[in-house]
Amino acid sequence: MAYVLPVKETPWVPVAGGDDRFPVRRIFCVGRNYAAHAREMGNDPDREPPFFFTKPADAVVHDGQVVPYPPETHHLHFEAELVVALGKGGRDIAAAQALDHVWGYATGNDLTRRDLQSTAKALGRPWDLAKGFDRSAVIGTLHPVAQVGHLDRGRIALCVEGALRQEGDLADMIWSVPEIIAILSRYVALAPGDLIMTGTPAGVGAIDTGQTCKVTIDGLSPLTTPIGAPG
Ligand code: MN
Repeated sequence: MAYVLPVKETPWVPVAGGDDRFPVRRIFCVGRNYAAHAREMGNDPDREPPFFFTKPADAVVHDGQVVPYPPETHHLHFEAELVVALGKGGRDIAAAQALDHVWGYATGNDLTRRDLQSTAKALGRPWDLAKGFDRSAVIGTLHPVAQVGHLDRGRIALCVEGALRQEGDLADMIWSVPEIIAILSRYVALAPGDLIMTGTPAGVGAIDTGQTCKVTIDGLSPLTTPIGAPG
């Protein structure tokens, strides 16, 4: 038996300190996980349980790669996020054991077609094409837990053309990394290779062709993304 089409290479994220690659299975994302960002989007951060959306694994973009301005939008937004990479899967994972499932951490940028998302929200439609478009999952170099430990605090920031646009602290997440893993694992069987983008602090905004955004998180490699001509 043979595949009837060429089989694509598994999407991957580079691992710090060598040529190793982390194979990406799925990408889950948390919505509204910093109170100040939930408020800026017009929501009450205190009353909502976490909710999730996804991006295709092959939407991964690496540090330094140009992202052409995506089609069907006039309002491409950046969102700086901590990315959690799972080395071990499971269902109904207890929060107390959840960190044992983490392989490493990276900086991320949850690129968003905000105009499409606003329309989807207004019409009660899915967010898929607002969030899960081609090259929408910008993921930086992955740092193993063995190297950086677990990140439950530390500055997270994003600059566009060197100007500070987003700033927060990982300690300000409404739902912590162990809580996110525990809750998500009630809905799906998590698996090695799954990535979780953990939400963005306040200050989201637009980025245009010709501009570069840079995400930094204390202890991790920075993540630089130039936005290219439409394509
Ligand atoms: Mn996000």
